[in-house]
Amino acid sequence: MLTDPFGRTVDYLRISVTDRCDLRCTYCLPKGFKGFSIPKEWLTIEELGRVAAAFARLGTKRFRLTGGEPLLRKGLVDLAAEINRQPGVEDISLTTNGTQLEKHAHALRQAGVRRLNISLDSLRRDCVTNITGSDCLPQVLDGIKAAKEAGFERIKINMVPLKGVNDMDLDEMVAFCMEHGFILNLIEAMPMGTTGQAHAKVSLQPVLEELRQKFDLSPFEGKIGGGPARYWQSENNGFTLGLITPMSQHFCATCNRVRLSATGNIHLCLGQEDKAPLRDLLRDNCTDAELDQAIRDAIAMKPEKHEFVENPKKIIRVMALTGG
Ligand code: SAM
Repeated sequence: MLTDPFGRTVDYLRISVTDRCDLRCTYCLPKGFKGFSIPKEWLTIEELGRVAAAFARLGTKRFRLTGGEPLLRKGLVDLAAEINRQPGVEDISLTTNGTQLEKHAHALRQAGVRRLNISLDSLRRDCVTNITGSDCLPQVLDGIKAAKEAGFERIKINMVPLKGVNDMDLDEMVAFCMEHGFILNLIEAMPMGTTGQAHAKVSLQPVLEELRQKFDLSPFEGKIGGGPARYWQSENNGFTLGLITPMSQHFCATCNRVRLSATGNIHLCLGQEDKAPLRDLLRDNCTDAELDQAIRDAIAMKPEKHEFVENPKKIIRVMALTGG
C-alpha cells in the first residue's frame, strides 16, 4: 500500500501516454504550443508498462490512460493489455477526445479497458469547432457510437462548461446522455497554463442547483469510479450527473491518485509542481526493488492540496502535459 504523509492511500495512477493532442481546446492547449516533449524523452510502452506493474505491486488498483490524446500513441492497446495482466488491478479506464475512437474502441475493450471518459463540450458543430479548433464533431460522434457498440461498462461524457460559450448547451447534453445511458461529468475549468487561467471562472454550484430542479436529481451516495466526481441521480430515469469542482469545492482531503507523464515523471498533484523523475533510473537498469523504493519516496512528497483558488497563476503547465 502507498500512503502519503497526510494518511491518504494512493491506489490510482493516471498515465499520460503522450503530451501531443490533435485538438487545441481553448482551456487546455494554446494554439501554436511549442512546449511538447520529443520522442526520445518519452518512456517506451515497455517502460510505461514496467512502471504500471510496479504501482500494481504497491497496491494500485485503478489505472487511467490519458494524455494529451492517448489514442495518438502507438502501442496503447498493448499497454492496456499489460496493465490488465497485473495481479490486483481492478479497473482500467481511458480519457479521450474521441476523434480516433471509431478505429480503436473494440481493441481497447478487448485489451481490458473497462470504462471511457469522452470529452465533448457541445453538440453544436460550430461550438465544438470554436472550442477545439477543429471541425471534429461528426468524427467524435462516430467514436462515441463505436464505443457504445464495443460494450464498455460505463461511458462518461466530460464537459467543461464555459460562460457564454457552451453553458447554454447543458440541457441538450443532459438529454443526449439520458438517451444513451451515459453519465454527464461537468468539470470546473482549472487555471492550468495561460489557457486554463483565462477560463477558470465558472463555479458549477449554480449550474448544479438549476439542473437538480430541472431533472429532479438527488445526491447519489454510492461510489462510481475512483475519481473525484460527486454524483446526483434522477430516480425517474436513472440519469446520473457527475460534478468535478476543484475550484468551488475542492476534494484534496480524499485525493487517492498521482500521475505519470509520458517523459517518466510522477506528478504528485495536478495543481502543484512537485514531481519525481523515474526515466534515468529505468534506463540505468534499476531493479524492481529500486523502482518500488523510488515510487514510495515520490509518494512521500505528495503535497497536501492544490492552490488553484489562492494562487491561480502558479501552474504554467497545461493540462495536456500531465493528463486529466
Ligand atoms: N485528450 C483527452 C481528452 O480530451 O479527453 C485526454 C486529455 S484531456 C487533458 C483530459 C480532460 O481534461 C478533458 O476532459 C478536458 O476537458 C479536461 N481539461 C483540459 N484542460 C482543462 C482545464 N484547464 N480545466 C479543466 N479541465 C480541463
